[in-house]
Amino acid sequence: MAAESTRMDHTEFTNPNLEVLFSAEEIADRVKEMGARISRDYEGKDLVLVGVLKGSCVFLADLMRAIDLPLSIDFMSVSSYKDGTTSTGDVEIIKDLSNPIRDKDVLVVEDIIDTGLTLSRLLDILGSRGARSITLASFLDKPEPRIKTELRIEYTGFVVPNHFVVGYGLDAAGRYRNLPFIGIVKDPSMA
Ligand code: 5GP
Repeated sequence: MAAESTRMDHTEFTNPNLEVLFSAEEIADRVKEMGARISRDYEGKDLVLVGVLKGSCVFLADLMRAIDLPLSIDFMSVSSYKDGTTSTGDVEIIKDLSNPIRDKDVLVVEDIIDTGLTLSRLLDILGSRGARSITLASFLDKPEPRIKTELRIEYTGFVVPNHFVVGYGLDAAGRYRNLPFIGIVKDPSMA
């Protein structure tokens, strides 16, 4: 029993170094609302959800099941170069889309928008491919560090303060993506 309680004390989901910002229940409710709105807005359109790997995978998996329309999904993976902790806007495509987006209604699905530099570059790249429309859905919006202030996020899950958040697909050095909630790492040196 002692071994069991020690294990429970150190489970990732109850990690004492994490402060819960949005619970799994709050997230589920919000994603359902977003899906309902997208279902209304895209009725009769040729919808493709484009997930930006890896962070958006959990959000995309939930969001697509909350959209009551025919749709397809595709993924892109980009690496954004950082200058210290801020992204420079230089983006390299690591994995491109599997299918053309010509004449499609593209909804780009992101985990979080911070400076907006990475996404703005990605939208430039996608913008030259003949899509009928390109719109942005981001699970989290962190407006304070925004550099690309002209970026329009049509569908936002939650607005977050200027803290480093993890969980629900978002990582810190590869860890925490599996958390079912969004948390703030209290002491980054212990992460
Ligand atoms: P941006 O180009 O908007 O500054 O960077 C966006 C990317 O930086 C996101 O897709 C995400 O990978 C990462 N990022 C920005 N803020 C956070 C954060 O608070 N937590 C985590 N885990 N990643 C973040």
